[in-house]
Amino acid sequence: MLYESTRGACKSVTVAEAIKLGIAPDGGLFVPEAGANIPIKRIEQMADLNYVSRTVNVLKPYLAGYSEQELYDCASAAYNRQKFDNPAVAPLHMLEPNLHVLELWHGPTCAFKDMALQIMPHLLTRALTKTGENSEIVILVATSGDTGKAALEGFKDVAGTRIIVFYPEKGISEMQRLQMATQEGGNVDVVAVKGNFDDAQNGVKKMFTDRRLGDKLHSLGYKFSSANSINWGRLAPQIVYYFSSYAELIKRERITTGEKINFVVPTGNFGDILAGYYASKMGLPVRKLICASNANNVLTDFIHTGIYDRRRDFKKTISPSMDILISSNLERLLYEITDHDSGRVKGWMEGLVENGFYEVDDNTKKAIQEIFWPAYASDDETLQTIAETYRTYSYTIDTHTAVGVNAYGKYKNITGDNTPTVIISTASPFKFNTSVAKALLGDRIISRRNEFELLEMLQNKSNLPIPKGLRDLDKKTILHTKVTTKDAMRDTVLEILK
Ligand SMILES: *Cc1c(COP(=O)(O)O)cnc(C)c1O
Repeated sequence: MLYESTRGACKSVTVAEAIKLGIAPDGGLFVPEAGANIPIKRIEQMADLNYVSRTVNVLKPYLAGYSEQELYDCASAAYNRQKFDNPAVAPLHMLEPNLHVLELWHGPTCAFKDMALQIMPHLLTRALTKTGENSEIVILVATSGDTGKAALEGFKDVAGTRIIVFYPEKGISEMQRLQMATQEGGNVDVVAVKGNFDDAQNGVKKMFTDRRLGDKLHSLGYKFSSANSINWGRLAPQIVYYFSSYAELIKRERITTGEKINFVVPTGNFGDILAGYYASKMGLPVRKLICASNANNVLTDFIHTGIYDRRRDFKKTISPSMDILISSNLERLLYEITDHDSGRVKGWMEGLVENGFYEVDDNTKKAIQEIFWPAYASDDETLQTIAETYRTYSYTIDTHTAVGVNAYGKYKNITGDNTPTVIISTASPFKFNTSVAKALLGDRIISRRNEFELLEMLQNKSNLPIPKGLRDLDKKTILHTKVTTKDAMRDTVLEILK
């Protein structure tokens, strides 16, 4: 199966090429030329498989350039007990018989980004071999907090690769900052950007399409690639857990084979929920994908009105990994929904850059509303939801997951829909300890406690163990202190590589 660009101005490439390039040369995103299907019978059979084998089954159709054995090797290297602290890899926690939480944070960095970034470096190194690549690959990452650390962990000391991560200087949690500033590995660099996530992401995107920079790099023996969710190699592994959770519900006899279910997805860059959309396109019985946003509710407005308008203030919230005004992966959805109309998609995307907004036609809007249902939660609602979830279910959730739980509450109230539902839990509550402790213990009790005292307090309250990756962060050496501006990111990269 070949991959084509959403902007329609470059030739189609193999999946290995698409994963190696990350972003298409014309500035678009790579998408599969044709659909793929997994028959319901096969989904049912996945109930008896472990996560590694489920991964092979789900990846096979879209990663046709990889043999089954290669996929198995990649998946085994990623989803094992050394990397994940739960044997199920992505366990389902039942809140009510028809309401489950899919915990995607049992990997090394305690957020769902590990689900893709543990396997992606293995897919990429094989892609380099498949395409006969001689240059060293430089992974450029813009992160709102979680991707950076997950990419660093995934790529550290992977032969033939370097990785440079940019994060917004004041836009991430203290735990996230410590995780990255202490990153070990001979091929890693971490740089703070004076600005917000969109500044960092735009800076990275610009470098990818900067011809002169590309030539310069080439002469130094390097080539850029991306580990952001604009890379298909990031997106594809995220499709797996939608199928996996469905198969698990069959196994537990919570649903019958073929029954439709809802997914609630805390959303930022639209990568996670887009994977859910691809899952449904592949035949997974999905009724609604509930798109949960925080106060940066561009997507909520877009799905309601068909107008994507980024001309608003960027808000710093307690769910920082979702503090995004430009959701890159929406471009892929628009391309799919319009039946691969690259002309229209290109027009909208250019409108966004030039005018700060675009409006889709009525048919496109209606097609999106068929499957997506949007809602958002304020910070106050998020804190209340953490407390309520704890009171009702004795279950501790992080701020991003709480945005999802809150959105689901709104969905149920408004629609009365009782369809079995899976809420995607994107981070460990320990990763956002300050806000979670505030919700569960109150401002007064947590004031003047440091991050690590808060971990202890949260452990006692939640009855959950502190994850290994966070427990000893205060004893690690700070290795990265570089700071740059959004206009100097290019120079910073050249300095690092020269
Ligand atoms: C990245 C992230 C999200 C948002 O996922 P997208 O794929 O960007 O929509 C939500 N929650 C957490 C904890 C994240 O790290």
